[in-house]
Amino acid sequence: MGNIVAIVGRPNVGKSTFFNRLIQRREAIVDSVSGVTRDRHYGKSEWNGKNFSLIDTGGYVLGSDDVFESEIDKQVELAIDEADAIIFMVDVEAGITGMDEDVANLLRKQKKPVLLVVNKVDNSKRLENAVEFYNLGLGNYFPIASTNGSGTGELLDKLVEIL
Ligand code: GDP
Ligand code: MG
Repeated sequence: MGNIVAIVGRPNVGKSTFFNRLIQRREAIVDSVSGVTRDRHYGKSEWNGKNFSLIDTGGYVLGSDDVFESEIDKQVELAIDEADAIIFMVDVEAGITGMDEDVANLLRKQKKPVLLVVNKVDNSKRLENAVEFYNLGLGNYFPIASTNGSGTGELLDKLVEIL
């Protein structure tokens, strides 16, 4: 197994917050695919002595939720191509959205390992609400809060185990 991990999900779920919490060193790579430069940030991280690269996807429409679903699909397809494991992030505050279902459908069709991560689980009520994400058909999930790091240890234990 390689050690490249891509974080995918619709805008505003907290991908960049999670990425920035984890990375120790940003890699200055301009990533150009088919002549189109996509907004993908690369960084290096380490957990339990295991090094891995993280890719933060998205952010094409800065500060806006108004992003074409096809753009997210492209990011997911790129992630499936280049990553060894995929973190699919969703947001318990928003619940399951159509875009989440769309991404889940793409991820179920491929063979790379997927870790479903429910972000913004800041309190016990949200921990209860997170169960709805079983309906995405991707199995168990990791409840985390990217802003304070809660739950990320269990997630990273699993991540480095599968890499
Ligand atoms: P991205 O578009 O998926 O990269 O999402 P961002 O990382 O830019 O975060 C979107 C918003 O969600 C920001 O206002 C974050 O502060 C907020 N956010 C991220 N993680 C958490 C969290 O664990 N709890 C809460 N309550 N908000 C969060
Ligand atoms: Mg972002």
